[in-house]
Amino acid sequence: MKRRKEKDYPVMALMALLTIFIVTFLVVAIIRTVSSFQAEEPSAVEEPDEPTSEHLAAISQVEQEILLDKLAIYDDYFVTFDGQKKIEDLTDVEKITFIDRLPIEVQQEKGLDFEAGVPLETIQELLREYFGPDITLHPVNCPCFLGDGDYLIYDATTRTYYADTDGHGHGGYEPYQVHNFYVDGVKTSNENSITYTLTIKKAFAAPNSSSYYSSYTDALEKNNLLFDLYTLYGEKAYTDTSRLLSVQYEKNKGLFPGYVYTFTTNSTAEEAYLVNLKK
Ligand SMILES: [Zn+2]
Repeated sequence: MKRRKEKDYPVMALMALLTIFIVTFLVVAIIRTVSSFQAEEPSAVEEPDEPTSEHLAAISQVEQEILLDKLAIYDDYFVTFDGQKKIEDLTDVEKITFIDRLPIEVQQEKGLDFEAGVPLETIQELLREYFGPDITLHPVNCPCFLGDGDYLIYDATTRTYYADTDGHGHGGYEPYQVHNFYVDGVKTSNENSITYTLTIKKAFAAPNSSSYYSSYTDALEKNNLLFDLYTLYGEKAYTDTSRLLSVQYEKNKGLFPGYVYTFTTNSTAEEAYLVNLKK
């Protein structure tokens, strides 16, 4: 008996260890479950169970990134209005110019090539994507940014826009540099749609310039310089631009006016389109 008991010691020790291990595992699992419940509680409280059909929420990090990428698509052209243009007041020429000024990577992705010709239907489709289903376009020719005559010519027989490359042998339009700083945002949803309202501060600079301004007009007219990154940081101004701009933004926040963007969608943030932009 005694000998047998001694022989059993390693087995018993192993079982005791196993028991301790299982108990520890269970305790950790229980603590984790309880704390995750506690962490989820605040958002559970926010669920729409009130009688009102509108629901306010914060914009998630993922949505924030999607919307920041999206608003940058509008920047090349829309900043030129300096927050003073209502979407419903866009003229036909401005609508076509918006499509023509879409960032090069977006143009490539959408297969836009005005030299080869872009069907009117494609332009109308894109306008609906960026400004919603109610936008209309009556085809008109579109003048060149240099003011030297029409550049995008509408051919009514083929219902296609063509670029007049013979008459405009000069370089293309170079967009201004625009850097966006997210301030805050709110997401309003009801049964039919989601509206995102974002406050953004922006820094503007002419192409290849390191002089930053708080509005497009100031950058254009070189008025009210905020700071010059090259003066402050030398060559780093061109290699570490985003980080240095963030540093300067933190120092000069109060000098930047806020721009309020309103996007709406009846599905996801990716499908949202701009309904308003004001300063
Ligand atoms: Zn021209």
